[in-house]
Formats: sequence, structure tokens, C-alpha cells
Amino acid sequence: MGNHVQKILQRRGDKKRQSFWLKRGFPFLLLLLTYLGFLLNFPLKRRGLWFTASIITVAVYSVPHILKKEKKYSIEFLFSVALLISGVVNAFSIPWLRMAYFPFMISLTAFYGLKTVISLFLLIPFLELNSFMNGNVSIEEITFWVSLSVTTAISLFLVPRMKKKTVIRSSFKIGEEGPKNMDLEAGQKYSSDEKGISHYIESMFKPEEEIKDLLLVVKNIVFADSVNLFVNSEGDLKLRSSTEESGSVIPTDGGIINLCIKEKKPLVLSDISEKKIEVGYLKKDKISSLVAVPVLDGNFPLGVLTADSVRFHAFSSADSNTLIKFTNQLMRILQRERVYPQIYRSYTTLKVLNEESSKLLSSLNIDFIVQSLIEGAYKIAPSDIVFFMAKGKEFEMLHYIGASPPEKNVFTLKKGTLLDMVVKNKEPFYLSDVRKYRSPVMPFKIDNAGSVFVLPMFYEKDLIGILVFLSEKIDAISPAQIELLKVLGNQASTSIANAKFHAEIEKLAITDGLTGLFNHRHFQERLSQEFDRLGRFSEPLSLLIIDIDNFKGINDTYGHPVGDSVLKGVAGIIEKTVRNIDVSARYGGEEFAVILLGTDSRGAFKMAERLRKAVMNTAFSEEKHAIKVTVSTGISAYPYGIKNKEELIERADKALYRAKKSGKNCSVLWNETEDKDLSI
Ligand code: GH3
Ligand code: MG
Ligand code: MG
Repeated sequence: MGNHVQKILQRRGDKKRQSFWLKRGFPFLLLLLTYLGFLLNFPLKRRGLWFTASIITVAVYSVPHILKKEKKYSIEFLFSVALLISGVVNAFSIPWLRMAYFPFMISLTAFYGLKTVISLFLLIPFLELNSFMNGNVSIEEITFWVSLSVTTAISLFLVPRMKKKTVIRSSFKIGEEGPKNMDLEAGQKYSSDEKGISHYIESMFKPEEEIKDLLLVVKNIVFADSVNLFVNSEGDLKLRSSTEESGSVIPTDGGIINLCIKEKKPLVLSDISEKKIEVGYLKKDKISSLVAVPVLDGNFPLGVLTADSVRFHAFSSADSNTLIKFTNQLMRILQRERVYPQIYRSYTTLKVLNEESSKLLSSLNIDFIVQSLIEGAYKIAPSDIVFFMAKGKEFEMLHYIGASPPEKNVFTLKKGTLLDMVVKNKEPFYLSDVRKYRSPVMPFKIDNAGSVFVLPMFYEKDLIGILVFLSEKIDAISPAQIELLKVLGNQASTSIANAKFHAEIEKLAITDGLTGLFNHRHFQERLSQEFDRLGRFSEPLSLLIIDIDNFKGINDTYGHPVGDSVLKGVAGIIEKTVRNIDVSARYGGEEFAVILLGTDSRGAFKMAERLRKAVMNTAFSEEKHAIKVTVSTGISAYPYGIKNKEELIERADKALYRAKKSGKNCSVLWNETEDKDLSI
């Protein structure tokens, strides 16, 4: 093997020498010849020859740079350019052309470092060697060189400073425009980030190719027949990558490579086939020599790298060292392979969290919020999920995802259950194995539960609800998922509390402060809405306007506060007597209005009478007094030729007027003939 390697190395060396001669030696010889020609005054005497040589020199130096698209040229190239300028100065006796040195040197300071500039500056006097040798050094000559050196020095001092300033200014520009752009293109930026990340992961993460490339390099370096990487997979070694065609390397149980992993030491074997040693994998060709090196992550063996050969004594300890160097690289690729999916998973979960949180914040509808919460939670931890809303001491199920809904829709917490403990401790609780838990978990029966996660949701100190995750699997939720669920739960608690607060404010805006019935404004709105609906479905609808009889007298006799409590009492009777779908409102001072949906005039009259009797038979007790009041009610009903809500109200008003006229404590249904009487 030694001879073979030497030959290869020799051949490589020959090639290297050739390319060095072509790249550096030949152009330098050309430059040297041009310079000698310059010293021998060739630009004057043999102008054609010298200029051709000089231009070729400049070209030879510049062409490779142009091909490689390099911005900076070598010092030799720069000198060849300076030489050409000097040649022109001499050939055509145009000394002012030497002024070209100034911009030349200044531009050099802009693109090159101190070293190149000083070296070139030291070289330039060589161009004037002729004049020095001929002894014609004039004061102008000296002045010229002094001013050139001063200019170069100043330029060297100033240019880097100016460069720094422009860099700072340009970065400020980015800073000024940045936020605006980000605001405008937030959506775009997000999606381009998203694409960027997945593209980055896809393009960066090509472990198969990277490993294969490395194995090929190892194969060439150690002159192996094949190089293979086996990785630990649940205690067995599996072939991960090979320089051989797929399927031609077959791992077997045990063997040397397993020993190599166990002992975490490299092994070099020279005569395997003779000693009939088990390698740990089979190949078409027999394996006579083998080098096996463990791939270690710290002290943990990830796998083993092997190189084999049909030749005896094919590998030395130097080859095993080479393999060790490559195992570091392989370990990094395998590590990355484990980390990238984790990064990608975290990225996608955070994306889900971000999307679901913004959904939660976008709504003031509790139902929608809870549904979004459950859907978001399911994306993070797929399981049966139920949300129970806290309503005083009771809990009501609002939504669930899963095979079957829980047994109970409404329940109270039972002492000693897991749920009760969680609410008392105000901390989430994860039970990874329900079977090991002695006490009852839920206040209702749960079947086949393996693990349970309970997330109590608080807003400030108020319990908003409980989110329960049930899974058939034991240990179904990871700590990372729990953390994300906590964040989502917090977000949802705030959103639900907001929605509740908003609902309370809305309710206040439509409620009469004294009686708790709807206020006049809401009564008008509802009546308009009902009339809009009536246009489409011709259902009957009736209106009662109820007025307390001689109420002024109550105020006068017992005082305003007593009057108020009587008003509240009458409102309570109305509320209790009418159906849930009916709309009862305080119409004015001691007047009430009730919209009876889907009720015709007969039904409305019955309701009015029921109300009247209920009020009449109630004694509103105020301290020592038992106060009794009566009511009069005007009734109107749709359709009976009614075109709009104003007409309905007007008829009920007129009917009420009739009721008052006919002695109070009665109910009167609007009637056409009486209406005519009224208008006469
Ligand atoms: P009628 O049988 O004709 O309806 O006689 P009335 O006294 O009930 O009718 P009137 O319209 O003359 O008087 C209504 C009284 O209701 C006058 C007012 O002081 C009283 N009132 C209106 N709003 C309130 C209130 O919020 N609280 C109290 N205590 N009294 C009210
Ligand atoms: Mg009145
Ligand atoms: Mg009255």
C-alpha cells in the first residue's frame, strides 16, 4: 500500500507543481522580463515589442481574476499596471501622465489594505530607477514623489473613516424604514418567514447526501473497498449509509462492530477471513481487513463507522485515526438530524399557538371563544377535551371534542375528587396514569382513561372554567405540550372574562335600573325587529300596555321609595307571569309594555287578565303596610290591518285609555268601532 500511496502522492505533487508554475511562475517571469525591458529603455527603443509584452502581462494577471469574479487583484497585477503607465510616460515623453499615479494610489487605498498599498508604494520607485541610475534626479522629481507619498498617506487615513460612516448611515436608513415596512407587510413578512424557515430546513437538512459524501471521502483516503455507517436503533445496529449499492451490505447480529460499540474503542483487524471472525455485516466480497470506529455523542454511542477491504493488512492505526476524525463530523450530522425535526415541531406548535390565540382575542362571543379554545388545544394535544364553564357553584359543559360527551352536562364539585382538588389548589394537574390514582377523578364516570390533564382557568381570582383533557393512552401529554396549553388557557381566560364583561355592559345598556325589565329603548328596538320578521312569517303578535291605577296616590300616601318598591313588585309579577320568549319592558313611569310573540288577540287578552288578577291579589308589604294596587291594560294585536309598529302601539294606547275610562282595573282590547267613537 505504501508504494501505491507514494505514487499517488507523487502524481498529486507533480500536478500541484505544474499548476503552481502556470498560476504564479509564468506570469511572474513575464512581469520580470517586462520590467527588465523597461530598465533597458525598451519602451523607447523597442516600443512595439515592449508594449505587447506589457499588455500581455497585465492581461495574464487580470484574466484569472475576471474568470473567478474576484474583486481584488494581486500586487503583481497592480505593479504590472503601474509599469504600463510608466512605460507610456517614458515612451511618449509625457511626464504629466505620471499624475495618473495619484488617482491610482488613492483608489488603491479604497480597495486594499495597508500592506498592499505600502508594498506597491515601495515598488513604484523601482519604475524610476532609470532616472536615478542616470543621475538626473531633479527637485521636481523629488517633489513629485514626496507629494505622492503624502497623498497616499492622507488617503490611507481618510478612506477607512469615510467607509465606516457610510456603513453607519446606510444601516440607519434601514432602521428608519424598517418598522414602517414591517407594519405594512406584516402578513407578507409572516408568510415569507414561514416559507423561509421550512425552505431553510428542507435545504439545509440533507443528512443522507452529507453522510454519503463523507463516506466516499473516507473510502478514497483509506483506500477501502467500502465504507459503512451503522446506527444504533433500539439496541440493534442498522445500516444507515454505505458507499456500496443499496442492499449489498446486510447487517447480522453481534460481530466485531457490536464489540466496537460496547467497548467504545476503535478496532483494526488485518486477517478476518483467515481467522473466520464475525464482522457484524455481510457483503458480496469477503472481508479480510476491517477498521471500525464508534460514533460517540459524548459518551453515548450513536453508531459505528467501518471501512473494509478484501486485501489483508489493508489498514493501519493511521487509518483508524482518519476514521475517528470523520466520526466527529458524522456525529454532528446525526445530532442535527435529531434537532431539526424538534425545531420544526416547536416552530409549528408555536405557529398554532399564535394563530389560536389571535382567534381567541378576535371575538367577544363566549361560545366561539370556547370552541376556538378547544380546537386550538386539540391541535396542541389531541385527546378528548371538555370545557366546563363555572356558574356559581355549578359547572356547565359548553363544548367538547372527542368520541362521546361526558355523562353529565351540569354538575357540582364533589369533595375528594381530582377536579375539586385542582380548583382548590388553583394549579393545573397532570395525572399521567389514571389507574394508579385511588380517589375519583371526575364527579361523573369516565371510561378507559389512561391519563388526565386538568387546567383550571382563572381571570384574576375568579374561576372562569375548567378545561379537561382525557386520553386512553398513559402519559399522553408531554411537559412541553402542558406549557403551551397553559399559555392558551391563560389567553382564553382573559378572552372569556372580556366577553363576559362586554355582555354585562351590553345588558346594562338595555335594562331598566329600577325594575330589571328591558328599558324603553330596547322595547322599541325589539318591536322593530319583530316587525321586520313579521314581514316574512305572518305569525300573530300582540302588545300589552299596562298602567298602574292611581299610582300617584301611592306615592302621595307612602312616599316615593314605597312607590318604587311597588313598581319593582309589579315588574316582578309581569316577569314571572309571561313566557320566556315574551319581551317585558318598563314603558314609562308606572307603565309597562309586553310584546307577546306568536300570540293573537284572544291569547293576549287572557294574558292581560291573568296579569291583572295576579297584581290585584298581591299585597306589597312595606314595613307595617300591606299595599294593594290594580292595573289597567290596553291590548292591540297584529295583523288586523296594522302596517307598522307605531300603529300597534297607538291602538294599545287607545285601548288603555278606554280601560281607564271604563273604571280602571280592567283589560281592554282595541276595537275599530270604539276607536271611531273615540275620534268623534
Ligand atoms: P291613573 O290611574 O289615571 O293612571 O292615575 P295615576 O296616578 O297612576 O297616573 P298619573 O299619570 O297621574 O301619575 C303617574 C305617577 O307615577 C306620577 C309619578 O309621580 C309616578 N311615578 C312615575 N315614575 C315613578 C317612579 O319611578 N317612582 C315612583 N315612586 N313614582 C313614579
Ligand atoms: Mg300613567
Ligand atoms: Mg297610572
